[in-house]
Amino acid sequence: MPGNNPYCHYRALELDKQGLRERVEKIRDAAKTSFAVGEFELITERVADGVVVATSASQPRPRRPDPSTASPAEGRIPPRLHLCRACNAYISLDESTCPHCGADIQTAALTYEEERRRRAGVIDKIEQQLAALRQRGPGPARSLDVSSAGTEAVAQSG
Ligand SMILES: [Zn+2]
Repeated sequence: MPGNNPYCHYRALELDKQGLRERVEKIRDAAKTSFAVGEFELITERVADGVVVATSASQPRPRRPDPSTASPAEGRIPPRLHLCRACNAYISLDESTCPHCGADIQTAALTYEEERRRRAGVIDKIEQQLAALRQRGPGPARSLDVSSAGTEAVAQSG
């Protein structure tokens, strides 16, 4: 069912906020024939005490596809989403404050871009030093000139 996937991570996080979790339990084995299907029940329970709040078996099952939720005859291009660089959640284009973490979108994007540039700079420096080492070729081990770039990368990697 669209929007009803028990293995969805976002869904699990949202349920967790309500103190709930889901568990999938087999209630009927599949027949021995190829491509036979078994039946599973989706059980929603409280994390605190394991009390069952809802089960898929207790809910009415749609016999016919519901026209209001059926796939449209013609597809549509989904809206483009952006990422909040503070919490990595998807946000819509018109948002200026993240609805998930409350961060200022613009500030978070600038900070992210600065950090990305800094990392690229460190990687460049290290690559240049590696290239210089390769040019020296094999030889007796010498004390390597690991200058600022290398130590900086090590110091900030944690
Ligand atoms: Zn956020």
